[in-house]
Amino acid sequence: MKEIIQYIFPFAENILKYFIISGLPFIIFYLLFPKSFSNNKIQKRIAKSKDFIREISHSMQSTIVFAIISLIILNSPLKEYTKMYTSINEFSIWWIPLSVLVALIIHDTYFYWMHRIVHHPKLYKKIHLIHHKSINPTPWASYSFHAIEAFLEGLIVLIIIFLIPMHPIALIFFGIAALMINVYGHLGYEIAPKWYRKTWLFEIMNSSVYHNLHHKKFNGNYGLYFRIWDRLMKTENPDYVKEYDKIQEKRFSKSNSKQKNFILELKEHFNKLFLRFS
Ligand SMILES: [Zn+2]
Ligand SMILES: [Zn+2]
Repeated sequence: MKEIIQYIFPFAENILKYFIISGLPFIIFYLLFPKSFSNNKIQKRIAKSKDFIREISHSMQSTIVFAIISLIILNSPLKEYTKMYTSINEFSIWWIPLSVLVALIIHDTYFYWMHRIVHHPKLYKKIHLIHHKSINPTPWASYSFHAIEAFLEGLIVLIIIFLIPMHPIALIFFGIAALMINVYGHLGYEIAPKWYRKTWLFEIMNSSVYHNLHHKKFNGNYGLYFRIWDRLMKTENPDYVKEYDKIQEKRFSKSNSKQKNFILELKEHFNKLFLRFS
């Protein structure tokens, strides 16, 4: 029984993680309050049901690929050679959050170069085009990859545990943080607070507008979490900051009406619910 659970766990964990982390923002931004968040919307284009179905079905395929990679790591002699540790006292407790941060930095570097490679004309149509079918991405697009790209994406876990000591809990946190930032990049809505623009974080971190521009223009802005590689390699979209400022300006100059819309939309949902049960 324990063995069966051990085999099922990676599949269940990946599927559940995907549906919760992508599903909640989808319910809030696309189903419940699209009018209230209309000023946050990055592209005017509206994603259709067929887009959601395509994104979800490819993401399901990716979760299976990710789970198979986890199973291979956990059940093969490879495990012996990794730097994984199970006793939490082996390193300082601070290493848990720090290792997650280091893992994200390694992932960003790996992703940037892997992403540049799959944009090569010889590989783009065969591998990466599936992800780019979402010209206006939704949270469901976060794992929408060709099986080969999903395999390349999933390999990062193997790379990380060979490079740095990771506790299984840190690995779970890394997976959650990675998907949350990924979903933010594909949200289709900018939600960064106003103050963020004036901090140093804006200079190094990605945003939803940032990755959305990659989907809209098909190239430039290849980074996953940070702007660093794009700035170093001069692949950042030159209009990025202008586009970011444009949407934030629209959002924060109409904040009062937004609050009103929110209440109205909530009332609409209650009325519908009331009519259904009365
Ligand atoms: Zn791309
Ligand atoms: Zn994307």
